[in-house]
Amino acid sequence: MSKNLAQIAKTKKIKYFLISFVDLFGILRSKLVPARAIADMQKNGAGFAGFATWLDMTPADTDMFAIPDPDSLIQLPWNKEVGWLASDLWMGGKPVSASPRVMLNNQIKNLSRKSLEMKSGVECEYFLISPDGSGIADTRDTQSKPCYDQSALMRRYDLIKEICDSMIELGWGPYQNDHEDANGQFEMNWDYSDCLITADRHVFFKFMVKALAEKHGLRATFMPKPFENLTGNGCHAHVSLWSGKTNKFLDNGNRYGLSKLAYNFLAGIMQNAESLSAFFNPTINSYRRINAPPTKSGASWSPSSISYSGNNRTHMIRIPDPGRFELRLMDGSANPYMLQAGIIAAGLYGLNMKLDPGEPLSCNMYTDYKNYPDLAKLPDELEESLDKLDENKILRESFGDEVINSYIKLKKEEIKDFFRSDSFDKKSSVTQWEKTNTLDC
Ligand SMILES: [Mg+2]
Repeated sequence: MSKNLAQIAKTKKIKYFLISFVDLFGILRSKLVPARAIADMQKNGAGFAGFATWLDMTPADTDMFAIPDPDSLIQLPWNKEVGWLASDLWMGGKPVSASPRVMLNNQIKNLSRKSLEMKSGVECEYFLISPDGSGIADTRDTQSKPCYDQSALMRRYDLIKEICDSMIELGWGPYQNDHEDANGQFEMNWDYSDCLITADRHVFFKFMVKALAEKHGLRATFMPKPFENLTGNGCHAHVSLWSGKTNKFLDNGNRYGLSKLAYNFLAGIMQNAESLSAFFNPTINSYRRINAPPTKSGASWSPSSISYSGNNRTHMIRIPDPGRFELRLMDGSANPYMLQAGIIAAGLYGLNMKLDPGEPLSCNMYTDYKNYPDLAKLPDELEESLDKLDENKILRESFGDEVINSYIKLKKEEIKDFFRSDSFDKKSSVTQWEKTNTLDC
């Protein structure tokens, strides 16, 4: 028997519930439901018109229903009257296969057939900018190497503390906050967890940071590359596979502390990286971040080639510690569910095929890339990664043709919309279209 939300509302004095879901473009959508109606909504879901969201439906389609997962409940720390719920989408009595949370749940099921679970953590970088989006909010934050700048961090103490206090209260286990490598950029880290919990928290974190920044007269953006001369917003993920309490990625006998299974999984991600980029770097603006020229700070900190390494941040995959690896490809616009789902799908393929990632590289990839001409490069534009996804039989089999076709169709329409108003040029400024459509990603 799952948790009774009507009962919880009484005990926790919740007056309203946000029954929310994330569509294929990562947009968080909700209905605000009074506690008096939650018992019925818990059972039957909240109704939505699918066509009004990015889910490749038509205006003639029947209602779709967001059925909340009571285990995902988060009472808003800054407004305790409201409880937030993540939902799975249903239509005609069946789960909507192109609903990102359903996509992730399906991948989790595939993994569980091998008695494995994925645990992950995400590093969500963001900028604090002026409310009109024209520039960073702190005009005194101008150093060329601003990473870890204590004064700039402490000028944002009130906001950072409120976000971090919220995470403590919610039991996420936050452990550090810092000023990142770009002026106006911050990162806050909390403990890793089961990948579905991390995905739900990732969605909520972005909502929380934006909401609290607004409360403090600021605007937070997770846009991959809002300023062409500054480091972009990455969203690195740390990944491990577990069987019960055993970390199956851990092998202390290996030089980097990774098991054979971990290398197989990692190799699956490397083999599919160009296509995964369509999920991990899903906006036009994303491609200003990967393959980017050095920034004002001296490094873009984002990958350009498909390579892995030990503790070396110039590669797409880094092994910072025994028992896990860090995938550095994703950016702030990645859909939190498709991010985790993409990792599992590709990794599982590597596992099944016992793929070998080859020898790790230890060079500085930002300067030495010319010595590795045979290394596959990451796509240069969104269209290229969508075309790679289109051709990718492995991901088509994992997610189903319907989901992949819908995603590609919607994204290609978005690209057409962009090119009606502008052109994509890495060397020229971030366009107004990108800002209008990506600042609040
Ligand atoms: Mg970072």
